[in-house]
Amino acid sequence: MSQAAPSNQTKRWQEIDARHHLHPFTTHADLAEKGARVITRAEGVYLYDSEGKRLIDGMAGLWCVQVGYGREELAEAGYKALKELPYYNAFFQTTTPYVAELSEKLAEVTPKGIDRFFFANSGSEGNDSAVKAIRYFWNLEGKPSKKIFIARKKAYHGVTMAAASLSGLTSMHPQADLPLPGFVHVDCPDWFAEGGDMTPEEYGLKTAKSLEDKILELGAENVAAFVAEPVQGAGGLIIPPKGYWEEIQRICRKYDILLHVDEVICGFGRTGNWFGSDTFGIEPDMINMAKGLSSGYQPIAALGFGERVGNTLFNSPQEWSHGFTYSGHPVCAAVALANLELIQREKLVEKAGGDTGAYFQKKLAELADHPLVGETRGVGMLGAIELVQDKAARAKFPGDMDVGGQCRNHCFREGLIMRAIGDTMVLSPPLVISQAEIDELFELARRCIDLTAKDLGVL
Ligand SMILES: *Cc1c(COP(=O)(O)O)cnc(C)c1O
Repeated sequence: MSQAAPSNQTKRWQEIDARHHLHPFTTHADLAEKGARVITRAEGVYLYDSEGKRLIDGMAGLWCVQVGYGREELAEAGYKALKELPYYNAFFQTTTPYVAELSEKLAEVTPKGIDRFFFANSGSEGNDSAVKAIRYFWNLEGKPSKKIFIARKKAYHGVTMAAASLSGLTSMHPQADLPLPGFVHVDCPDWFAEGGDMTPEEYGLKTAKSLEDKILELGAENVAAFVAEPVQGAGGLIIPPKGYWEEIQRICRKYDILLHVDEVICGFGRTGNWFGSDTFGIEPDMINMAKGLSSGYQPIAALGFGERVGNTLFNSPQEWSHGFTYSGHPVCAAVALANLELIQREKLVEKAGGDTGAYFQKKLAELADHPLVGETRGVGMLGAIELVQDKAARAKFPGDMDVGGQCRNHCFREGLIMRAIGDTMVLSPPLVISQAEIDELFELARRCIDLTAKDLGVL
């Protein structure tokens, strides 16, 4: 499809941006050549670029815009806070009504036992704070040897030094000489890619056992915590099979390893319940939240503590020497609280776990008959589509063909945002999406997979 030449306004933004702006996860030589896509506004589930082109946002931004774009209530809550108290901090025994009210609301909606919260500005900072909190916990408990963190291959926990060390996407490590010492990775239940002839359940148990093996190798007295997402997001939407989480939970308890669950994607309705921990029956010691906490309208993250760690930290006679200038920022807290109230009022979690989620999963499953699709999988309002060379053998295309990238480019041209993680196409739309919009999303998805298949000579 040919594109009209961009307007002078768009060209100017592309030029100044390419000259002065270092983008996250972007190859800059490439960007300078093509020019960035300029998104200028958004409404509901739709984005609009600087050329007026409309795109349906199948990713809710970066998995975060639960309530959709353009919600007045959130804008107003932020505006009110900006006028009343644009900034004050929570250091040195001070608080604000905004962060106190948000803490109480979080205690209401988070999994049983998670009752106390520390605030940060991003999911990465939440996980870095978790690493510090867990080290401090074991020091206070008189077990200072428990220091090693075990996470999983293909995990994504963010980009700061400790969060990137927890992350198991190996492409993130060499540029910064990571992981730091004391961070190790075990297998993840990516059955589609690695499960071979086993059933998904067998493979799940095998990968859970890799945690136990690693604990025995390191010595439980040296292991602080296991860190994991309920469903692995950025690693390719890896959904654990039945039995996996029960086994992980059993192993953590047996060896007295803390379980820190990264709910940054799964939280706030994404998997059909308030938290991924609810969906998979996990009883975490700590959880990390961001993204859907404010639907992305403001940068805010929260680290939630269960009774065990919470009691120790709260009863410590020492000051906790940690906290950000913007921890519990009043404007971010006000917007997050308005967001949670909106999610409750519109029953978005119930819809994701009910009609909307069921309809989304039904339409997703219909793509499984496509000759290019090796598997579809999903839970709640998350979906993945595996593009493969050979359906029966689950055989992927050679990586350098970048079939996923080709499909994603068709999506952009046709007006759909669908993410490519290798050749795994991923969807995570706003929870407010209507059935008609879900129809539109999947009609475009099928068209773009068709176009990709034609490029490859499959159709
Ligand atoms: C996005 C993400 C993070 C990092 O959050 P940022 O706000 O980008 O720092 C951490 N964990 C998971 C599971 C995520 O998806």
